Amino acid sequence: MEELSGQNLNACNQCLKCTAGCSFVDNMDLLPNQVIRCIQLGQEDEVMKSKTPWLCASCFTCVTRCPKGVDLSRIMEAIRTLLLRQGKEHINLSGSEFKLPADAPQQLFVSGSRKLSG
Ligand code: SF4
Ligand code: SF4
Repeated sequence: MEELSGQNLNACNQCLKCTAGCSFVDNMDLLPNQVIRCIQLGQEDEVMKSKTPWLCASCFTCVTRCPKGVDLSRIMEAIRTLLLRQGKEHINLSGSEFKLPADAPQQLFVSGSRKLSG
């Protein structure tokens, strides 16, 4: 995870500033700071089965708030990359069952393309 993300996970001191600023925590089953804590404790399985990495919009709010310089969006991307390498996709965008709303915002495409970079 550290190699893929380029982040020092032990730098995180669980101050919660990332979680306090994230707009998507209401729907996350692991809070952004908890994702890091699980990895610090060797509980990667909890992270890999969580829907949180897929809900992360790579908005960088947490990155700008972190006093320790931890880039959580890169960590979320690393998790998604590992899952995609294992063939575990949350949504198959190329599948016929996926219908993109006509009024989908541009941010959706930006976020989606970032999530598919693995
Ligand atoms: S803001 Fe940074 S140091 Fe604080 S919990 Fe989040 S990742 Fe860790
Ligand atoms: S990059 Fe992801 S985890 Fe960080 S604030 Fe945005 S949605 Fe939340």
